[in-house]
Amino acid sequence: MQRFSNKNVIVTGGAGGIGEAICRRFAAEGAQVWIVDSNAKLATALAESIRHEGGRAQWRAVDLASAAEITAFVADVKSQESRIDVLINNAGINRRGPLLELSEEDWHSTFTVNLDALFHMCRAVLPQMIAQGGGAIVNTASQWGLHPAPGHIAYNTSKAAVAAFTLNLARDYAADKVRVNAVCPGEVRTPMLESNLARSGRTLDDLNALVPFGRIGEPEEIAATMAFLASDEAPYLCGALIEITGAQAVA
Ligand code: NAD
Repeated sequence: MQRFSNKNVIVTGGAGGIGEAICRRFAAEGAQVWIVDSNAKLATALAESIRHEGGRAQWRAVDLASAAEITAFVADVKSQESRIDVLINNAGINRRGPLLELSEEDWHSTFTVNLDALFHMCRAVLPQMIAQGGGAIVNTASQWGLHPAPGHIAYNTSKAAVAAFTLNLARDYAADKVRVNAVCPGEVRTPMLESNLARSGRTLDDLNALVPFGRIGEPEEIAATMAFLASDEAPYLCGALIEITGAQAVA
């Protein structure tokens, strides 16, 4: 499939576990991928690897906690390209703990990266999408934003806000043919998850046993759904929150 030939696709957190799978998927389907990440080492390696395989990828070191850096990045893309077809707001951080174990910095950082970055990125990209007659935005929320797991109040609340942001943005810009949707993954095998496993003393087998499907999700499975949501195969999907969980209820 080449659903994104000649399309520009921005992927935030593109060098992370799910982000890498998203970038590879869009590049494999013909997109020029703009990898946005603060991890320059991983982002460089990913862009080189995609190019080595014949795909088109550029990376930019952007701190998504900085509105100025986000605005400058989008201006940079617009100075080189006449369209921005797809925006994937995927970056996220997970400061763990119940309320009394979180610092104010944990709370504010979580909201700065997980929510405020979407505000700034969408404000920068939307005028271009409207001017060109439409576009697709896919946000990475989380199952935990809809059904919170204990001990992650900052993360879960920020992801609930991402879900609400998605629904509101979809309603406000549907008439401009900007489709806004979100994925809400359950647990996915990435560095973010593995760092939590190490901390909690649980194993991957423990997590797999909790999922009716028999295992937790793979990054490529999230990427496939995001590509579908962003593609012309989903022309009327707008304002959807897609749970990808292997039928797991939050324990
Ligand atoms: P990850 O930690 O592997 O990747 C996150 C990426 O975001 C990293 O490359 C990191 O460098 C980048 N990033 C973080 N802060 C940044 C900043 N200020 N500026 C620029 N880049 C920044 O995590 P992941 O598991 O791939 O998660 C991706 C998304 O999926 C996140 O939004 C996460 O909340 C969500 N999610 C993950 C899971 C899971 O189980 N892994 C489940 C549900 C939702």
